[in-house]
Amino acid sequence: MTELELIIDLHKNSERQGPGSEGDTLKALEILNLNTDKNFKTADIGCGSGGQTISLAKNLKGQIIAVDLFPEFLNELHEKAKKLGLDDKILTLEKSMDALPFHKEELDLIWSEGAIYNIGFENGLKKWKDYLKKGGFLVVSEITWITPSRPNEIEEFWNVEYPEIDTAAHKIKQLENNGYTLVGYFYLNQDSWVKNYYQPMQERFKDFLKRNNNSGTARKVVEDHQAEIDLYQKFKDYYSYGFYIARKNE
Ligand code: SAH
Repeated sequence: MTELELIIDLHKNSERQGPGSEGDTLKALEILNLNTDKNFKTADIGCGSGGQTISLAKNLKGQIIAVDLFPEFLNELHEKAKKLGLDDKILTLEKSMDALPFHKEELDLIWSEGAIYNIGFENGLKKWKDYLKKGGFLVVSEITWITPSRPNEIEEFWNVEYPEIDTAAHKIKQLENNGYTLVGYFYLNQDSWVKNYYQPMQERFKDFLKRNNNSGTARKVVEDHQAEIDLYQKFKDYYSYGFYIARKNE
C-alpha cells in the first residue's frame, strides 16, 4: 500500500477523521438557530466517515449531500446511515471539494468540519459561496491560533504545514471581506481533540501495524501521527479548531 492508502486505512472504522464531537456539531447548529420545520438542502463537504453528517441528519429536515474524495469513508457513512434508517436523507458523493457539481444558489447550508484547509480557508469561502442561496449558511471548522502570540517552535511548524493558520479575528475578517456575516464563533475544547480523536486513533495503532505487517511505511504513518499528537500535547494552549458560523449576505 502507498502512504496515502495507509493513512486512509488508519482512519477507517473510526468515529471521526479530525478533532470534533457531536456536542460541538450540535452547539454550532444551536447557534444557527434554524427553523427546523423547513426543508434544508445541505452539503457536508469533506465529510469523512460522517460523524457530523449523522448528527446533522438527525437534527435537520431535508437532504444532506455528503461529499468526500475517498470512497472508503463514504461507504462507511452509507453503511452507518442505513443502519440508522437515515440513508434516504444522506446522499454520498465522491468528488473533490474544489470541483463540486452544485448549481448556483442551490444550497441552504454548507457544513465542513476540519476539511476546508485542503483547498485553503479563503479559497474555500470564495469557491463555495456561489452554491449557497442568499441568506444561506456556511459552517466550517478551521485550525486557528487561540492566543495573540505563541512560541517559535509551533509557529514555524504550522507556517510550513498550513501557512493560512491565523487568529479568529483574521479569519472573521476574511469571511466579512468575502460576503459573509459572522453569526457565531467558538473553538473546540481539548476533549474534542484528545478523547474524541487522538485517543481512539492511538488505540487503533496496534491493529493497524499488525494488519499492515509492520511495514516501514506503516510505521512511518504511526510515527507521523504520534508526532502530531505530541506537538498538540506540548502546544495545546495556542491552537485549536475554530468553528465559524456565518451567513451569506443578501
Ligand atoms: N469532517 C470529518 C472528516 C475531516 S478530515 C470529521 O470531522 O471527522 C478531512 C476530510 O477531507 C477527509 O475525510 C478527507 O478524505 C477529505 N478530503 C481531503 N481532500 C479532499 C478533497 N479535495 N475533496 C473532498 N474531500 C477531501
